[in-house]
Amino acid sequence: MKILCVNSGSSTIKYKLFEMPSEELLASGIVERIGEEVSYIRYRSARGEIRRTGRVRDHEEAFREALRCLMDPEKGVIKDPSEVRGVGHRVVHGGEKYAKPVVIDEDVMRTIEELSILAPLHNPANLAGIRGAMKAFKDAVHVAVFDTAFHATLPEEAYLYAIPYELYEKYRIRRYGFHGISHEYVARRAAEILGRPLEELRIITLHLGNGASAAAVKYGKSVDTSMGLTPLEGLVMGTRSGDIDPAIFYFLMKQEGMSADEVYELLNKRSGLLGLSGVSNDVRLIWEEFKKGNRRAELAFRVFAYRIKKYIGAYAAAMGGVDAIVFTAGIGEKSSEVSSYIRRLVCEGLEFLGVKLDEERNRDPEKYGYVISSDDSRVKVLAIPTNEELMMAREVYRILQRGSC
Ligand code: ADP
Repeated sequence: MKILCVNSGSSTIKYKLFEMPSEELLASGIVERIGEEVSYIRYRSARGEIRRTGRVRDHEEAFREALRCLMDPEKGVIKDPSEVRGVGHRVVHGGEKYAKPVVIDEDVMRTIEELSILAPLHNPANLAGIRGAMKAFKDAVHVAVFDTAFHATLPEEAYLYAIPYELYEKYRIRRYGFHGISHEYVARRAAEILGRPLEELRIITLHLGNGASAAAVKYGKSVDTSMGLTPLEGLVMGTRSGDIDPAIFYFLMKQEGMSADEVYELLNKRSGLLGLSGVSNDVRLIWEEFKKGNRRAELAFRVFAYRIKKYIGAYAAAMGGVDAIVFTAGIGEKSSEVSSYIRRLVCEGLEFLGVKLDEERNRDPEKYGYVISSDDSRVKVLAIPTNEELMMAREVYRILQRGSC
């Protein structure tokens, strides 16, 4: 059974086509710069690559382009759109309503739209993707897989903010958490790699990409996570501040005469690694500057790693201990010099918890089966590539199987 998994942003769609249940990746692709003068279309399968430019006006056209690649006589992997039985859509905000993936109908689309108030940058783009894909893959079952769903198990003390409870009742202002698909995937993978049941493990998962978040996964369930009502809270990110004193918002409005929108933009787009380093949001470029002795580059890494370390301590306390720490995503999972450096900075000083990093393994996680702690480390440390699309494909497959029983 062929299942397509889609991640739609405001100007990009990324997709992967899987054969299920074998989990074989048949093809993947991306359409970038949707709505601009020149758009990029890229596609890859075992039969070859396609790269072209063109004008792609909207998400509907983007999916038509994707379909054209998937059905390409030479490099394609399907002959007809109906071969794709299920399409999984990553949806960032599912609010309190969706604790599990759900088959998309008009009602679901309305709710995703309503939830845009909580994720104005993401949910509308996800919805545009859903609408576009529904036109291109008319016969498929479309399923929404929510980034918030894995964190639906957070207890009240973890998800409530200490503001008047009436505001929670009125607006559902609370911690939701994001990157759930990735946190769940790597927690499961860690258990698999360690050869132990997930239900016996207390795992801290660290998704460190352009967006970054930590989760406390106790016996398979998320019990706390660092992102909140929106993906702005928590760890230091590429351009997002993560945790700050909320009074900074007030201070900047008063002292700099900034509007609420301007401060919000500053905290989302001009802060984090970019704001601290003054170089870039990309750790590879900050690393180049760091090597030249740039003090702000060094500072950016220190603040980034220190925040993560504090969360590890907090989540170990929240779970009454920790058995494994998992690094993942663009920064967390790689074997590059900068990734190894950041993992080392994070783990340094955590010996009291039982963390002992193995330097050799930390330089090349894949070579050592993704475990980068030493054999006598009580807490296992892993660096595992995330695979959100595969996680989504499994969910869609499960739903389709259930439907046919
Ligand atoms: P997103 O959060 O947008 O899904 P990723 O998880 O792909 O993104 O992470 C993107 C970030 O990962 C980049 O901004 C860059 O800082 C970092 N990154 C990408 N490749 C590497 C690498 N080889 N080594 C270290 N960091 C990397």
